Formats: sequence, structure tokens, C-alpha cells
Amino acid sequence: MKNWSFYTSNEIKPLGWVKRQLEIQAQSLCGNLHKVWPDVRDSKWIGGTAEGWERVPYWLDGFIPLAYLLEDKELISVADKYMDSILAFQQPDGWLCPCEEEKRPSYDTWAVLLLSKVLTVYYQCSGKEQAVDALYKMLKNYHELLKNGTVKLFEWGKYRWYEGFIAIDFLYSRCGEEWLLDLARILKEQGMDYDTVTHLWERPMNWWRFDTHIVNLAMMLKSEAVSCALLGEQYTDKAQKHYDILEKYNGMPAGVFTGDECLSGVSPIQGAELCSVVELMYSYELLYAFTGDKKWAERLEKIAFNALPAAISDDMWAHQYVQQSNQISCIRFPGKSVFRTNNSEAHLFGLEPNYGCCTANFGQGWPKLVLSAFMHNGDNVVNLVPVPSVLQTEDIYISLKTEYPFKNTFEYTVKSGKDFTLTLRVPSFAQNYTVNGEKYDTDEVLLTFSAGEESVVTVSFDVTPVFAKRAGGLNTVEMGSLLFSLPIKYHTLKKEYERDGVERKFPYCDYEYYPETPWQFGFADTALEAEYRDVWETPFSSQNPPVTVKAKVKEIAWGYEDGYDTVCAKYPESRVGKGEITEVELYPYGCAKLRMTELPFCEEE
Ligand SMILES: [Zn+2]
Repeated sequence: MKNWSFYTSNEIKPLGWVKRQLEIQAQSLCGNLHKVWPDVRDSKWIGGTAEGWERVPYWLDGFIPLAYLLEDKELISVADKYMDSILAFQQPDGWLCPCEEEKRPSYDTWAVLLLSKVLTVYYQCSGKEQAVDALYKMLKNYHELLKNGTVKLFEWGKYRWYEGFIAIDFLYSRCGEEWLLDLARILKEQGMDYDTVTHLWERPMNWWRFDTHIVNLAMMLKSEAVSCALLGEQYTDKAQKHYDILEKYNGMPAGVFTGDECLSGVSPIQGAELCSVVELMYSYELLYAFTGDKKWAERLEKIAFNALPAAISDDMWAHQYVQQSNQISCIRFPGKSVFRTNNSEAHLFGLEPNYGCCTANFGQGWPKLVLSAFMHNGDNVVNLVPVPSVLQTEDIYISLKTEYPFKNTFEYTVKSGKDFTLTLRVPSFAQNYTVNGEKYDTDEVLLTFSAGEESVVTVSFDVTPVFAKRAGGLNTVEMGSLLFSLPIKYHTLKKEYERDGVERKFPYCDYEYYPETPWQFGFADTALEAEYRDVWETPFSSQNPPVTVKAKVKEIAWGYEDGYDTVCAKYPESRVGKGEITEVELYPYGCAKLRMTELPFCEEE
């Protein structure tokens, strides 16, 4: 195993389009949740009466790195205020969650595991030692309570036991104390062994259960990678075995798995929950860091550049709970939901459609991706995700100018204060990969720099749009890391209202999306042609996409899913092409809020 370490938010800074993406996030829901959403604004975590379990820690896990990456003083002061308030409630024995002592046995300690991650990221961003002291006391107390049986893992904690290992690993590397290894052993012993339930992932069911819950499974993929060293176990790439089953039976073209909110098969009209999108990204970031296996990096890009932007509105005020590959509208179902266990609003763009977990949790997606741009191992640096960014450490400066993934040219400006190696990952889809004009056929390129050297390195490669096969004889169009969809023009209906004390008011309101243009098409030709454009202020703009692919289609009689007039049928009723061939412009999946992504090839009459 080749271990790569993360840099901190002081060492990596966003540039270009990804900086604009973070700024949009800071100006919208994630950056304002503490003002507009009761479960964060009035949380028990800060002395209020609203939710005192996962929502504030979920939010802080993304909000803290967002604030520090942007060096936004106002957001940093909000993060400090929340953390100070949380830490002020720490009990003398170390317990930190807002739950009275007699209620601890029935408090699901998933919150402890999640907060341990937040304390770690807060220290890494702020350098504040009191975060480490509080983490140490909290986990020491947690170890005692688990050892003497006062608390046990159950429900979410049982299914997410490995989430505590990020903090345990961090603390153990600092203090090396034996009790941390014992805590690791207890968590694994009481935690879920997912090997025993993989058969359940092969057939989607219509009932809710923990062991097919999509967010649990997205988190779980990293479990062996983050735990094996602390447990003294061999790494066996269990993640790949689990990935293979999940992908075969539940894979979506945007790189995620269907789960609305439990595994839902390969149907293009079932959804993927937004929490699972960001958790899968985080799992792949850690899987790469622990294994150095580049397959995780490519899978990470696929999700980050497709599934993540698709589920969030251009202004980042509204998000979906679940996204569909073939999504012809986002209108509340008057009757039964088409989703297996989600309600009739789960696909609306809004403040908290279906349930509020994603409202709190989606903010970690972009900041953690930026923090994965570069990783290091001794005198080696790898450019894991080549988004525009700058790395500045004591003795290394690397600035990367690029509009990737929309364009495929890169300019690295390097100033080295010591000898080091920079590894460039060559994507499997790259053609004519060149560095300073020299062509490479390898799967990575190692560049060495000497102390005192200043240089500019230019990299470029080509990508070609291609068709990829899907279940039911359908096909998608991909180019590099981007998936493409036939966009459907739409108008939105704003919905302002209050329910259960939670206000939806512009800009933090709900929207229904109504289609205005035809969507019943099949591909009529294999010719595809890419067109590169400027990247707008909104990088994944639904109006001005930064790149498109021209394709030829014909109308077909697709039809509606039985019982619905706002959901297309899972598979088309007829594949016979009618009328003339039309040229259409496919948009990146992340830009096309209403879309057809999986299409058949037309058959002759
Ligand atoms: Zn969620």
C-alpha cells in the first residue's frame, strides 16, 4: 500500500472555476444555514431546543473547510462560534453530545463518531489545540462507556462504526496510546459486518432497512482502508468486491448507486440520495489516500463532476434529495411516490425535500474535493484531482491553471525549495497525453524538481465522446469524466410555505420543475461531436454549459411509467424512430436539471 496524506486548508487554495463554485456555496444555503434553518440555528448543540444529533456536525463537516479554503473571516467566525459553544458543553468525564447522562444508553452514538471527524477537520483547518484536547477526552470517555457497557453501538452507530477511525487514526499518530487501538477493536466488534449481507444488494426491495441503506453503503466502502492498519489487519481491497456488486445491480451512469433511500436497482427512474453522493466522494478520497490506487480517483471525478452538481440548483440554494438519470420533471406526485421508500417530494429542488439530512450534509462535497487536489508522501506529491488550485507549503509551490474537466490543458507553475517528485495521474480515457510537448503512454508521469528550481510544465490530452452501454439496451454518452444528457427546457414554480415550524421562503424555498420541450427520443446515428465553450460564472450552468456534444436523434414513442404522467417509463414502449433525424446538443449531466441520459438506439420501422 502506498499511503498518501492530505494537505490542510492552509496549504491548498482553490483557483478558477472551483473557487467560484466554493464562493457560490458560501453565498447560498450552506453559508447561511445557521441563519435560516432551525435544526442548525436553534440546535441543542449550541444550547437551543432543535435537533441535537447529526445535523450540526454534518453541516460543520463541510462548512469548516469551506470557510477556511476561502479564508472568509465571517464564515470562520461562525465556525469558531459553533465549535466554542459545542466544546463549552463538554462534561467533566469527557462526554460532548447534547444528551443528559441518564439518556446516554439510548442515544445513538453515531453523533460521537461524526463529531470526532468534525473535531479533526476543525483542528486541521484552525490549528486550535483545544479541538484535539476535546477530541481526546471525548474518545477516552467513549472508550470507557463502550468498555463498561453503558453505551453500545446500535442502529446508525452500528452501521457507521468505521467513521470514528479518521479521528482515532489522527489521535493515535499524535499520542500512540494503546486505549485507542482497544477502542478501534470494540467499534469493529460491535459494528456491522457488511460481508454477511451482500446478497441483499442484488435485488432491490421496497422496504427500508439499514443494510441496504445507500448512505451507509457509500460510507462503508472505505471501512477496510481506514481501519486495517489500526486493527493490525491486511488490506484485501474489499472495497472493490463490494463496489462490483453494488455497481452491477444498482449502478447509475453518474458514478453513484441508486438508493431512494435503499438500493433500488439499475432503473434510470430510481434515484440516488445526495448524502450518498458526497459520502461516496469522501470514501473514494480516503480509498485513494490509503491505497494509491488510481481507479478510486477516476471514480471520484465521475461523481464530483456529474452527480454532485446535478442535484443542486445553479445558485446552490436548493437541492434534491434524490436525482434520476432520466428526469423529465420534478413535480410532486399527487399519489404514491415512484420511489421505493422516499416520499412524493424527494426529487423536488428545495430546502429539505423528503428529509433534512442532505440539507446539512451536502456542503462537504466541493470543499473536500478541493482538499484532495494534491496529496503528499515524503518528498512525493501527487496531483490527484486536477482542478484549478494552488499548493503552498514551506518548501513547495505549485499553481495549477486549468479549466478541467471542461477542457484538457493544464499549466503547472512550480517553485521548489527542496528536491521533490510530482506525480501526474494519466486518466484511462486520455489520448495523446503530452507533457511539455513530449508524448507519454504510461498511466502516470513522474516529474522531478530540484531545490531552487522554478519551472512551468504544460500538459494536454484529448478526449473523444463515446457511447457506453446501460441496462435494458439503453446507452449514455460520455467524454472524459463528464456524462452527457439530452437537456429538457423547463420553467420552475416557486413554493413558499411553512411546515412543522420550518419556513420555506425565497431564496431558501422549494421549486417544482415543469418540462417545456420534447424528451421522447432515441439515438439515430453514432456520430458525436464535442463543442468547447467558455466556462461561465456558474461553472455547471444550466443555461450556458461549458461544453456540449452534438448528437443525432429521432423521436420515439417512449411513454410514461404506469400510474404517472410526470415520470417517463423505465424503458421505452417503442424504439422505432419516427420522422426526420434531428441534431441536438447534449449538456453535461450536472448542467441538465431536467434530462434524458439513458437512451436507446432507434430501430427501423
Ligand atoms: Zn441525505
